[in-house]
Amino acid sequence: MATASLDSARAAPVSGIEKTPDFVPGALPGQRLSLVGLTREELKARLIEAGVPERESRMRSGQIWHWVNLRGAQDFAEMTNVGKGLKAELAKHFTLERPEVVNRQVSRDGTRKWLIRMAPTNAQEHNRGAEIECVYIPGPDRGTLCVSSQVGCTLTCSFCHTGTQRLVRNLSAAEIVQQLVVARDELGDWTGQMPSRDANGGEVGRLVTNIVFMGMGEPLYNLDAVVDAVGVMSDQEGLGLSRRRITVSTSGVVPQIPRLGAEANAMLAISLHAVRDDLRDELVPLNRKYPIRDLLAACRAYPGLNNARRITFEYVMLKGVNDSDADARELVRLLKGIPAKINLIPFNPWPGSRYECSDWERIERFSEIVFNAGYASPVRTPRGRDILAACGQLKSETEKLRARARMMLEDGIAEGMYISDED
Ligand code: SAH
Ligand code: SF4
Repeated sequence: MATASLDSARAAPVSGIEKTPDFVPGALPGQRLSLVGLTREELKARLIEAGVPERESRMRSGQIWHWVNLRGAQDFAEMTNVGKGLKAELAKHFTLERPEVVNRQVSRDGTRKWLIRMAPTNAQEHNRGAEIECVYIPGPDRGTLCVSSQVGCTLTCSFCHTGTQRLVRNLSAAEIVQQLVVARDELGDWTGQMPSRDANGGEVGRLVTNIVFMGMGEPLYNLDAVVDAVGVMSDQEGLGLSRRRITVSTSGVVPQIPRLGAEANAMLAISLHAVRDDLRDELVPLNRKYPIRDLLAACRAYPGLNNARRITFEYVMLKGVNDSDADARELVRLLKGIPAKINLIPFNPWPGSRYECSDWERIERFSEIVFNAGYASPVRTPRGRDILAACGQLKSETEKLRARARMMLEDGIAEGMYISDED
C-alpha cells in the first residue's frame, strides 16, 4: 500500500490493491527472449549477455534498434547491415516475436480492437499469457492508439467495466510498447510501408500518430514501466512519436503526478468526473485518499503547462448524477487558472452497469456552460461501442482464469498475480 502521509481524517480505506509490485517478465526457462519493446539500455545489456563484445555493443544495439523499432523487422534475416555470423548468434538467443493477436474486431466506425495475448511468464499464467485489449481510433487528422498499462485495474471506479476485472498485474515496459508494435504490424504502419495513399498516389502519413494510456489499468500504479515505454515510443530513431502526442490518463494518484511530468514529460489527463468530494468518493474511490483539492494542486504544479500544452480533464456524463448546470459551473470554477481542456465522455454502458448516460440535450447544455467559460469542451463521440471498445468497456477474457488463479494464489503458486480485496 502507498504511504498514509496524505491521508486525512476523512480517508476511508480504498478498496483494491493500490500498488501492484513491479513485474519484470523475462523469457521462460529454455525459451528465447523477444527483443521487441526493450529500452536501448536493456537491448544493449542483453546483447552483451549474449556475447557481443562490450566495445561493439553500442553500435550493434543501434543497428538492431533501427530494424526493430523503425522498420518493424520480424526476422533477423532482414537486418542487411548485420553480419551473417552475428545474425545467427542473435537468432540462437533471441526472437523478434510479438504478442499474439487472438481476436480482431472492426467497428462500423472504423475503430479496431485487438485482443492481445502476451507471452506467458514465469508459470503464473497457466502456460497462457495475460490478455489485454488495445484499441485504434482513426480520425480525420490523427490516429489514436489506446494502450493498456495493466491487466485489469486494482481500482474500482463504479462506472468502469475494467474495474470489475479482478485479476491484475502490471505490464512490463516492453509489453506496453508491443501494443504499438502490434498496431503498426496490423495497420501496415512501419516506415517505408506506405500504408495509404491519397488520390494522387502520394503517401498520406502515419496511421498511429497519438497514444493515449486510457486502456486497462491505472498507469501511475505502474509508472516505472510507463516512463520507459514512453521513452521507447518517443525515440526519434525508432517508433518516433512525439511526447506531446502521448497522453497518460490517471484517476488521480497524486504523489506520482510530479514524476510523470519530470520523467515521462507526457501530456496529462485527469479522470475528474465529479466536482464535489462526496460524489467523487463514490465514483472514483481513490478520491478518499487524494481528494479534489490535492489533485488540482498537483495539476497546477505540472511542468510545462501553457495554452498549447494543456491538461485534459475527463468527465463522464452520468444521468442525474454529475450532469447538472450547477456541476458545470462548479467545474469551471475549480479549473480556474489551469490551462485545461475538458473532455465530456458520454457514459458507455456495459453489462450490469448501474448508470445511464445523460440525455443528449443535457450533455449539450453542460458543454455550452463550459464552452462559454472559455474552455474547449468537445464531447467525445463514443467510438467502437458496437464492439465494446469504448472508454471503460475493456475487460479481457483473462478474467475467466480468475477462479483458478485464486486457488493458485491461495496455494502460494500464482506469485505476481493479484486480485482485489472485494468481491
Ligand atoms: N485508469 C485510468 C486510465 C484508463 S480509463 C483513468 O481512470 O484515468 C480511461 C477513461 O475512461 C477514464 O477517464 C475513465 O474514467 C473513463 N471511463 C471508464 N469507464 C467508462 C465508461 N463506462 N464510460 C465512459 N468512460 C469511462
Ligand atoms: Fe481503473 Fe481507470 Fe477504470 Fe478507475 S476508470 S477502475 S482507475 S481503469
